[in-house]
Amino acid sequence: MTPTREPVDQVMVTVYRAPRSYTGEEMAEISCHGGTVAADGIMSLLIDAGCRPAEPGEFTRRAVLAGKMTLSQAEAVADMAEARSEPAYRCALARYRGALSGLVAGLSNDLSELLAEVEFNLGFDEHDTVSGAVPKTRINRITARLDKTIASAERGRFLIEGANVAIVGRPNAGKSSLFNRLVEEERAITSPIPGTTRDRVDATVVLAGVPVRLVDTAGLTAQGDCPRTGTVPKTGSPRTGTVPKTGSLRPRTVPKVGRSPVPRTGSAVLTALALAQTAKAVEQADVIVALFDGSRPAGPSDRAVIAAIRGRESICVMNKTDLPCRLDRAFARNCPSRLTPVSCRTGAGIGRLRSRLARSLRAGPGPRLAVNRRQLEALSSCRDALVRAGSAPTLETAALETRSAIDMLSQVDAPATSTDILDRVFARFCIGK
Ligand code: GDP
Repeated sequence: MTPTREPVDQVMVTVYRAPRSYTGEEMAEISCHGGTVAADGIMSLLIDAGCRPAEPGEFTRRAVLAGKMTLSQAEAVADMAEARSEPAYRCALARYRGALSGLVAGLSNDLSELLAEVEFNLGFDEHDTVSGAVPKTRINRITARLDKTIASAERGRFLIEGANVAIVGRPNAGKSSLFNRLVEEERAITSPIPGTTRDRVDATVVLAGVPVRLVDTAGLTAQGDCPRTGTVPKTGSPRTGTVPKTGSLRPRTVPKVGRSPVPRTGSAVLTALALAQTAKAVEQADVIVALFDGSRPAGPSDRAVIAAIRGRESICVMNKTDLPCRLDRAFARNCPSRLTPVSCRTGAGIGRLRSRLARSLRAGPGPRLAVNRRQLEALSSCRDALVRAGSAPTLETAALETRSAIDMLSQVDAPATSTDILDRVFARFCIGK
């Protein structure tokens, strides 16, 4: 009722008694009729009566502070709201129901027992009664458990956060054609400047439940590697780009550093922009698809691609298998992984490539623990400390590293007292959660 006793709506009020409510406090929920008019009218009445709108994530934040849920469960609430696929949602739900917290509690228990054993041995050592040794078997057992957890956490992280996949290769290798095959639609590659295809093109596809941001980068060209005449890309102008780490790749239209006084024309500026964009895409990629043209011998650009992807999660692909094979065997042998043959023209091999990509994204069968990057880093740091404990030269160092592992593990479900972490976590929430 308004102050003038005008009815606003007929509502249903659900009362939740402390401490069994979502936040642990006394709570009431008002269900009103649909539309915004009734809700706005009720909100005005409540604000006039001294209420205020909740801040983003305030209900969940209060629940964490009241000890009703752990921080990882709170993060799972946000992940459930943001889930872009059903497997991602199911993973977040499992975490909300305590899957991660339970695992962390078990591991934490194991580590505490390990520390007790190390300290016990340490005590005897001081008195020279027992020659205490670093309990390697116990450490290895916990490390193996952590490895399993991290493996399923990695699978889960891609589910929650999605993965970046960059397609790299020399101009005309067929990157755009592969991109189109993978996104299963013909995308026009356009640029604001006519006759150029220097733009980076993105699309998000869902692969085995993993949201994949696919990036078609500008082509890579190394010096002395001229494109075959008559094979310039569709729009008539070569795309350019590079991977900065190797230093051997550079865009065709950019002069060698410190050598040429060639002015930076509009085209050169555009090329430099493409170069920077490509470098960024490669750097940010979780998986790199390195594409080679199977219908021609490998050139310096192809070798530069190999150099650029070494040490990175990558898939090597040989395109144009509908044409006679001219890619040298020695080059194929030097690839970091077996070449997957495809033909973007006929579609042959694309299914196999999809499966290989899914495997790289750990999207295959097996348990998935939905964690975010922060939690995965904490788990990995815990494992690193434990491995150091296992190879520690003295019991003192082993104890130190075990304590550090316990500390790292506690960051997965960071204590609710850390305002900094709470602020970061709840900044993601929307109002009303
Ligand atoms: P990009 O510069 O690496 O993006 O290469 P494009 O996708 O633009 O392809 C370059 C040229 O190769 C185009 O003329 C394509 O039609 C052609 N091409 C791409 N894939 C294949 C393939 O599998 N077989 C054949 N024969 N030609 C292909």
